[in-house]
Amino acid sequence: MRRSCPMELPEPRFFPAETPLSVLTTQPLGKALDYRAPETGARTGDFVEVPLGPRRVLGVVWGEAEGALPAQRLRPVARVLDVAPMRDEMRAFLIRAAGYTLTPLELMLYLATRAPGLIAGQAMRRVFRAGPTPPTRLTDARTRVLDTLAEYGGAALTIGEITRAAGVSPSVVHTMAAQGALIEADAPRDAPYPRLDGQRKGNALSPDQGEAAAALAASAGDFSVTLLKGVTGSGKTEVYLDAVARCLRAGRQALVLLPEIALTAGFIERVEARFGARPAEWHSGITQTERRRAWRMAAEGGAQLVVGARSALFLPYRDLGLVVVDEEHDQSYKQEDGVLYNARDMAVLRASLCGAQVVLASATPSLESWANAESGKYARIDLPARYGVAELPQMQAIDMRAEALPSGRWVSKSLQSAVAARLAAGEQVLIFLNRRGYAPVTICRACGHQVECADCDARMVEHRFLERLMCHQCGATAPVPTACPSCGIEGRMHPVGPGVERLEEELRALFPDARLAVLSSDLFASARALKERIEAIAAGEADIIIGTQLVAKGHNFPLLTLVGVIDADLGLHGSDLRAAERTFQLMRQVAGRAGRAERPGLALLQTHQPDHPVIRAILSGEEESFWRAEASERQALGMPPYGRLAGIILSGPDAQALYAHANALAARAAPLQRIGAQFFGPAPAPIARIRGRHRVRMLVKAAKGAPLQAALAEWVGQIAPPRNARLAIDIDPQSFW
Ligand code: ADP
Ligand code: ZN
Repeated sequence: MRRSCPMELPEPRFFPAETPLSVLTTQPLGKALDYRAPETGARTGDFVEVPLGPRRVLGVVWGEAEGALPAQRLRPVARVLDVAPMRDEMRAFLIRAAGYTLTPLELMLYLATRAPGLIAGQAMRRVFRAGPTPPTRLTDARTRVLDTLAEYGGAALTIGEITRAAGVSPSVVHTMAAQGALIEADAPRDAPYPRLDGQRKGNALSPDQGEAAAALAASAGDFSVTLLKGVTGSGKTEVYLDAVARCLRAGRQALVLLPEIALTAGFIERVEARFGARPAEWHSGITQTERRRAWRMAAEGGAQLVVGARSALFLPYRDLGLVVVDEEHDQSYKQEDGVLYNARDMAVLRASLCGAQVVLASATPSLESWANAESGKYARIDLPARYGVAELPQMQAIDMRAEALPSGRWVSKSLQSAVAARLAAGEQVLIFLNRRGYAPVTICRACGHQVECADCDARMVEHRFLERLMCHQCGATAPVPTACPSCGIEGRMHPVGPGVERLEEELRALFPDARLAVLSSDLFASARALKERIEAIAAGEADIIIGTQLVAKGHNFPLLTLVGVIDADLGLHGSDLRAAERTFQLMRQVAGRAGRAERPGLALLQTHQPDHPVIRAILSGEEESFWRAEASERQALGMPPYGRLAGIILSGPDAQALYAHANALAARAAPLQRIGAQFFGPAPAPIARIRGRHRVRMLVKAAKGAPLQAALAEWVGQIAPPRNARLAIDIDPQSFW
């Protein structure tokens, strides 16, 4: 059922002691709760701890009490937390984001408070600094401790940080402290981040870059959205760092969103080189302590720049002046579970509420942003050439219909000889295939049985590196069977189709002397391990890189001059609305990895359909005509961005109950009809079962200006979904699985 959370922004006010007020908690209650103001009184936006049943939970003072109970009958707020109050603009953002995505407001608050220990408050911790007296005996270990402290610019570090960075035991630190070689002190846990210097000079900009930076400067200081479209290697990052510098000088905070954690480490080093210190980081790879620090410092202004994943949009910035969405077309900006939101769109919403500038950077923008720039809603800046002497790679098709490859082989003769030539010249090659694992299908040659996941409507993918089969939906693994699970015959199980691991095998046989490196997200335990591998490869530690879409994004391999795409047609199969757009973006991005330095690059695309309009557009590089053709097709069909879609996904253990509910909704479509929306379905989802839960999809299509959310809320609110079932509404769906 739809919730009845307060969806209007109440006027801020002060609630004196003992007066009633309402508190929004992160509990899924569907409403704010009434409490009595504490001794100190409380203001709208204060973070508070309130009793809820036997527990105490986090909440925010939202406004007037909603019920009619007199104050004496209400439980009191336990205490106001030592945290900067939530600003009105943040409350407005949560309300608007909840309304747009049809998410309960308390879930939005949950997204905005995902920092541990907010309730615990500012604890102190023991730290150590270098002391005035040198150690009595300068052992290796003691020297390393002093070096470590010097390395962090004389900052005070915890014992954990010192022992880890210096590789010493805690007793070394304690002994040094006892000798006066280290000074021990209590410091607040969440310290401000070191100052970034916005006055520092960056690289001298090229004339094109300078113009772009000037255009961004002209619209800084207030809300605006600019699409910064520049070919890979044109210096988009250089240009938006200039905007970051300006924002820092203005004393406001900046946020840079990146689509992939693996890219943050490299970016942070670039920031450090540019501004003299490291920014705050926010993504799933940071510690709980860092999370809390980043959250608090965003609120207090002690974080001038945050670099992070999409959820960094929900930090409580004190004064956000700039949001950069790098690789804005990237699919990972759409959160596909829990709260279904698109960080690119939410960035624009947030910026509009706090008067911030938005920069959407991409070599291959989403059709949405392209169209917004066409219509004049967004400004647009182009960087058409690579920086310096680097040139854009040549692109050519390899017609696979003319290449007779034996079965189980995927590298054509033409590609082989191109690879051989580059290797002979001492250059690097990237072979691209967007498929993790060894083989996508394992089939029994005796009976034709394909191994599927027990809980999902998906085939098990062989991962030879792990020596297991894996389900890419739920992550379940199983041993590779020697006998067919269906007919029981031994020794006939056979891998079908290529994954990157299998390509490695083929390339190893073709080029036995070359050093091979497979880059696939599942092969690395941590973002750090991946980053180190990428750096080593960039420095020349591999001759042939075999990669999934992981390598398509933003990485810079200066020695790389040839990109070979194993199956350029892969993304064109299927009926996805964005198949053409995605293939175009991915192929142009991958090709953009080649020739980023002095030596010119070449991209070879293996395809069975060299005359397909999308393949031709990719090869010709006539981007504008591709966008225009794609746009007019979508326009004719009333599809996004010229019309609106909402996906409705029902999931649950009982398929029959799901269809019954879907059909009941279909029979009550009056609220949708009133806004002229079309309704499609119900139908089994393309992946009809995940983790044992069945999935049924419906689709609603409406005209661009139609009040879609209100109609959807009314429509699905008419009847409650069956027990154990979940109804999710996906506004502006990006995927249809
Ligand atoms: P993009 O973000 O468009 O891919 P980058 O900003 O990463 O481009 O620039 C590509 C490469 O060129 C980087 O190695 C960068 O350091 C270098 N570069 C770009 N602009 C300049 C400049 N004005 N001065 C020096 N180096 C630059
Ligand atoms: Zn599964």
